[in-house]
Amino acid sequence: MSDSERKDTAEQAEFRRYCKAWIADNHPGEPTVRLPLSPLEIMTPEQMAYLQSWQKSAYDAGLVGCDYPKEVGGGGRKDCQRVANEELVAARTPYYPNVIGLGMAAPTVFHHGKEALKQQLLPRLFSGEDIWCQGFSEPGAGSDLANVQTFAEPKGDKWIINGHKVWTSLAHFAEWMIILLRTDKGHKYEGLSYFVVPIASALGKGVTVKPLIKMTGETGFNEVLFENLEVDDSFRLDELGKGWQVAMTTLLHERGAGELVTPRAGGLKSESSLSISSRNVMDLATKTPRGAQQASDDPLLRDRMVRQLIREEALKEHQRRSRVPALIDHPMRLPLQNKLLASEIAQDTAALALEVEGPAASLYLADENAPARGQWPLAYMNSYGMTIAAGTSEIQRNILGERVLGLAKSK
Ligand SMILES: Cc1cc2nc3c(=O)[nH]c(=O)nc-3n(C[C@H](O)[C@H](O)[C@H](O)COP(=O)(O)OP(=O)(O)OC[C@H]3O[C@@H](n4cnc5c(N)ncnc54)[C@H](O)[C@@H]3O)c2cc1C
Repeated sequence: MSDSERKDTAEQAEFRRYCKAWIADNHPGEPTVRLPLSPLEIMTPEQMAYLQSWQKSAYDAGLVGCDYPKEVGGGGRKDCQRVANEELVAARTPYYPNVIGLGMAAPTVFHHGKEALKQQLLPRLFSGEDIWCQGFSEPGAGSDLANVQTFAEPKGDKWIINGHKVWTSLAHFAEWMIILLRTDKGHKYEGLSYFVVPIASALGKGVTVKPLIKMTGETGFNEVLFENLEVDDSFRLDELGKGWQVAMTTLLHERGAGELVTPRAGGLKSESSLSISSRNVMDLATKTPRGAQQASDDPLLRDRMVRQLIREEALKEHQRRSRVPALIDHPMRLPLQNKLLASEIAQDTAALALEVEGPAASLYLADENAPARGQWPLAYMNSYGMTIAAGTSEIQRNILGERVLGLAKSK
């Protein structure tokens, strides 16, 4: 019995039994299409359709949005999403494609949207029928997010949007975007407002989505250009000029420190995907020749692998601590540290795998001689995105220093 099971309330225990049984009966098994390492790299309509159908069946069974009220399409349960997540992860089910919708848009719309808007948007978000993307970053506003310049100008009870967003993951599939806009050029923070914008229906009529090719060859990112897009004022979240405060709700959830647990599926272990873990690197080392021996016999590599394993285990303990209320001295400390540690450990683990592979690590996905089907070079390149997305490691350290430790602010 896991620690979490031991601490289950009666409702959680009953829900856990239900989840286990449902997953056993409905696990889709090996995927019928080649899946990328994460939902942010979904490229083809076939991949998206396969994953959307999985999210829809999990939602219909009550495993997505469990802790949201029934009126907005949720399950109306109390602290049960983490139970569903644990069972899905243990069963290594596929991931959900609507990762930005579930993790960022849903809690933001829930906390700041008008009731009618929540009821209109959230059920199709939870079911994965509507994919969402996040329009925060711009060419001149990444870490300095409050500098966004994409402008919304009032026109009666509507707004006219013009500007340029960038690094917009999944915009090529998205129906909706959460977007931070400037509504007043005279004030940096108070001049921002937050909207939801239907982008798929506006393609070619005020919205252009242009794919950006990553160094992996994948096209998860996009540029999104707005030219005189007209949106209704009913799509504004919270008050005019309160966009920065709304964006903080999004970022808290994006960085894992929000109070609503994000629905999360397992991430399928399949022929075509691998997770970045030191156990997988050790497995690779036992299969990789190094002279007359195996890479796993090299004492220097062994030392590095064990160090990585210890870091990973320490992170797991750290993540468990964030679930014990008595140990939480500051609500943001553990989750923000977890994001920082997890992304940096993953990057180092992927780098170690390349050392294990040696020169063969230069062979990529399409090369039939590539060890582990070329998945490790892919994982290595993608791991850089993890330390940048949702706030770079430097920015995370600044936030922890200033807001958690109370150090003086950086200029
Ligand atoms: C995989 C991935 C997915 C993404 N998806 C999305 C998305 O869907 N939607 C979206 O809006 N954005 C997305 N982004 C963009 C992401 O949020 C930005 O890349 C990130 O905020 C950094 O901004 P920037 O790229 O403009 O870098 P910059 O802000 O220009 O930073 C450049 C460097 O300077 C450092 N730096 C900047 N300011 C400081 C400071 N004050 N102190 C110390 N160091 C500093 C940074 O840490 C970094 O190393 C994604 C990024 C990645 C990698």
